[in-house]
Amino acid sequence: MRIILLGKPGGGKGTQATMLKDRLGVPQISTGDILREAVKRQTPFGIEAKKFMDAGLLVPDCLIKDLIAERLREQDTAEGFIFDGFPRTIAQAEALKEIGASLGFDIDAVVNIDVSSEAIVTRLSGRRSCQCGAVYHVVSKPPEKEGVCDQCGAALYQRSDDQEAVIRNRLAQYEAQTRPLIDLYEKEGKLVTIDGNKQIEVVFADILAALGV
Ligand code: AMP
Repeated sequence: MRIILLGKPGGGKGTQATMLKDRLGVPQISTGDILREAVKRQTPFGIEAKKFMDAGLLVPDCLIKDLIAERLREQDTAEGFIFDGFPRTIAQAEALKEIGASLGFDIDAVVNIDVSSEAIVTRLSGRRSCQCGAVYHVVSKPPEKEGVCDQCGAALYQRSDDQEAVIRNRLAQYEAQTRPLIDLYEKEGKLVTIDGNKQIEVVFADILAALGV
């Protein structure tokens, strides 16, 4: 299956994509994770992307297109994938169509996870991350020992783009650039909208039901 998870930053796309990946046995492709890895390794691409990410702005489409084209040439995506955080603009959706046409695939379904903006600000400003990939929340999912990862014992950190002013910017970017994708995929008959304000397991069950898997 080839699936796109759409929704506001912090709306649960990453969490649901990880669960779906395990259930469906296809890779999760998170442009945010790929970009953060490039930033950590301080590649020229990562250094360029960091300027945008720290400001809560979208990384330019041309950079993202190349990144996705390269990722989709890898063999593990042949049977399907789950996009988490891509596409985020109409230009990216068009680029995806072109790449799909050249590689001979189309997207099966677009799952729009709908969460209120205020819930997002609460979720993201309390989020604490670990370098191992584990994610916590100071109120709803605290680690056993404050500031320390339960899984690997490393110190937790707050992503630089999880500060409130940056979160508000990311939400504004979503409204201006990403929301139009809802209409686009609705017209194509591929969109299903899920209430993302519910508990993680309920949202997951709703997604599986909507996908018919
Ligand atoms: P995320 O973890 O998906 O919220 O992404 C974190 C940041 O990475 C975003 O705020 C953007 O700056 C950048 N980013 C991730 N995916 C994309 C994308 N598809 N297009 C442009 N920028 C992106």
